[in-house]
Amino acid sequence: MSRLQELTSFNLEELQDFFKSVGEPAYRARQVFEGIYQRGWFDFAAFTNLPLPLREKLAAKFVIDPLQLEQTASSADGTVKYLFRLPEGLFVEPVLIPAGDRKPACLSTQVGCKFRCAFCASGLNGFKRNLTAGEIVSQVLSLKFQFGHNLTNLVFMGMGEPLDNLENVLKAIRIINDERGLNFGARRMTISTAGVIPGIKRLKEFELQVNLSISIHSSTDRLRSRLMPINKKYPLPDLVGAAEDYIRSGGRQLTLEYILIKDLNDSRYEAEGLAAIARRLKAKVNLIAYSPVPQLPYSRPEEAEVVRFQRWLEERRVKVTVRQSKGVDIAAACGQLAGKFQ
Ligand code: SF4
Repeated sequence: MSRLQELTSFNLEELQDFFKSVGEPAYRARQVFEGIYQRGWFDFAAFTNLPLPLREKLAAKFVIDPLQLEQTASSADGTVKYLFRLPEGLFVEPVLIPAGDRKPACLSTQVGCKFRCAFCASGLNGFKRNLTAGEIVSQVLSLKFQFGHNLTNLVFMGMGEPLDNLENVLKAIRIINDERGLNFGARRMTISTAGVIPGIKRLKEFELQVNLSISIHSSTDRLRSRLMPINKKYPLPDLVGAAEDYIRSGGRQLTLEYILIKDLNDSRYEAEGLAAIARRLKAKVNLIAYSPVPQLPYSRPEEAEVVRFQRWLEERRVKVTVRQSKGVDIAAACGQLAGKFQ
């Protein structure tokens, strides 16, 4: 049996084309789009505004939500990880990370990851495949309608490297942003990259002003290449140059993510290098204490070490936020839970 196609991969114009192609009026597309994105209807039976034969025709060809909930894991700090099964038995794992009155969600864009950063759980099981635009959109729909979360921000971060699946990620962002559907503001969405330079260049041309954050994790090519093999292909000087071009185009803002790993990238020397890059890019730094992964030999720094690193940056007039790594008790670092199942 051929696999049903997920309807959430269609933007409104594509839906209109589909309905026209099967001899239905284009306004049916609007009814379906609004049913999915404004009312959270995941079952064709709910579309009582459509004639029954049309509902049957749609159900034979499409599925609305391709994600099946497998497991949830809740942390004492409020973080909730959702593990969803894809049709062929692979897994994705969006994470809800509440902070004060904000409810950000971290979305997966690939199953596994090709980039094999030394400290990360997602790379451990290798790369399986890109998620479709619909599978990315469905993560948002499930959190909103199935679990009732009023999401305030979306971060395209992990599992996977969003700029390695750029066309599907951009399509998903357009669908999520569409004012006729979810109407989620582009400024509340952030793409986080390990430093895929062609993707950063492409993002510069993207019509919606989403935020960009770049994972730096070291200010020297030597250590960065050890931690993030992608640095051998796109070394720091080129990456910083591409980021500079990016912020020059239309006054876009940039954040640098820095995972602090004990006795590895937490020296004053690293802080000075990071401060120089941040100042050049007028970027804010997000410091995150490493969340240990059982199979990997890296440790979390003490709180005092995080504060010390933060102070070194602030002394150099860099704006720093310290993000608590959340959900340490539920394996919330990207890819950890799915890795157990994959
Ligand atoms: S940190 Fe990001 S880019 Fe690196 S292996 Fe993990 S998911 Fe991939």
